[in-house]
Amino acid sequence: MYMNHETAPPATHYSIDVECVATGRDHNSRAVAQISLVDQYEQIILNLYVRPQQPIVSYLTPLTGLTREIIEGQGIPLEEAVRILRQYLPQNSILVGQNIGKDVDWLQLKEGKDYQSLVDLTGIYRVWNTKYNTWSVFGQDHLAKVLLGWNTENSSHDAVGDAVKSIRLFNLYKSLQSDPQAWRRAQETVMAAEVQPSFAKRNPEYDGVCMGNRRQCKCGAPFLG
Ligand SMILES: [Zn+2]
Repeated sequence: MYMNHETAPPATHYSIDVECVATGRDHNSRAVAQISLVDQYEQIILNLYVRPQQPIVSYLTPLTGLTREIIEGQGIPLEEAVRILRQYLPQNSILVGQNIGKDVDWLQLKEGKDYQSLVDLTGIYRVWNTKYNTWSVFGQDHLAKVLLGWNTENSSHDAVGDAVKSIRLFNLYKSLQSDPQAWRRAQETVMAAEVQPSFAKRNPEYDGVCMGNRRQCKCGAPFLG
């Protein structure tokens, strides 16, 4: 990649990450509380805290890294945050992220208007599992740990850190495409490495809030894909 940003062409790829706090006890009651925007050179363009309109049941701090102090001290209304985001996000940008469609939905960004297209890391890093004849997909933390050597243990999901992870994984993917052997090795490594249980798996319920682990959900709310 370009070492000197002065000579690098303008960014075309960006990562957006959204962190949500709980506004109710079921696994769908969430509101946006942090938005980050990072470009393909890992420059942090925005780190916005959002103060939800609804009362907050839990900041889900071990997961989000967010606290009452941060949100009450630095949070701005969602509308304002999205307006700022639109100012910084070029309309021809390609957005990269793990389940990026979900982040885009939270912010109600429109394809062809606010951005050009999406690249979901879940899709580009899926691996064909010959044992079960199906695609295996992996969480971003697994990919970052195995492929980037990123220490993901016990660290909460800061939106900026997660966006940097996303763009770095995307840049790695791009560079691996010119070397089929290295790409195959990377896929094998991802498949072979033990997957650490997610926060929702370790904590089916946190602070009285259902974390939406399908097998252990007791709140009864639907799973919206
Ligand atoms: Zn639930």
